[in-house]
Amino acid sequence: MEQAAVEGVLKQCLSEEGSKLQQCLEAMKQAGCKVGPDYFKVMPCGALRAVGGYSQQQGVILCHDQLQTPSQVTSTALHELLHAYDDCRAGAGGLDWADCQTHACAEVRAAALSGDCDLQQEIWRGKVEVTRPSSWFDVHAKCVARRATLSVQLNPNCQGEGVAAKAVADVIARCMADRAPFVPPPNG
Ligand SMILES: [Zn+2]
Repeated sequence: MEQAAVEGVLKQCLSEEGSKLQQCLEAMKQAGCKVGPDYFKVMPCGALRAVGGYSQQQGVILCHDQLQTPSQVTSTALHELLHAYDDCRAGAGGLDWADCQTHACAEVRAAALSGDCDLQQEIWRGKVEVTRPSSWFDVHAKCVARRATLSVQLNPNCQGEGVAAKAVADVIARCMADRAPFVPPPNG
């Protein structure tokens, strides 16, 4: 997508009252973390081949040359912001991203809560077998495990055969149950 198009989608999401992006930013501010107006940066990432990224130093990066649809912009922005939130709530120094299980937990939460694994996105990727329908819960959980594993595999400390998949399997139940900062409505 063009840089201006990605910036437009991002601006709209950020201004949407009660959007998940807003809820997440609000939770970070309440926890005392700095999230200035230039916290999101839209840039071409070329050879990196990633749709987005997050670091404590740079905040959230969206790679407009790799992003292909508006819903992918929204879910990627939220995915990366959830990493920022997890880092923020871990307190001074943030999370130990070098630890495979810690990293796996963050990726599980980001995949589960960002919309990365919404049915629409899985169909668009061609990952849903329409001829062999399975429950939505299965599609979602499989997608979360698959995408979290792919991300953890990029961690230099989690390179051995099956190491990333095992880290994800070890934490997936606990980390999918942690829906912060999105809490269910009272009595809901
Ligand atoms: Zn991630």
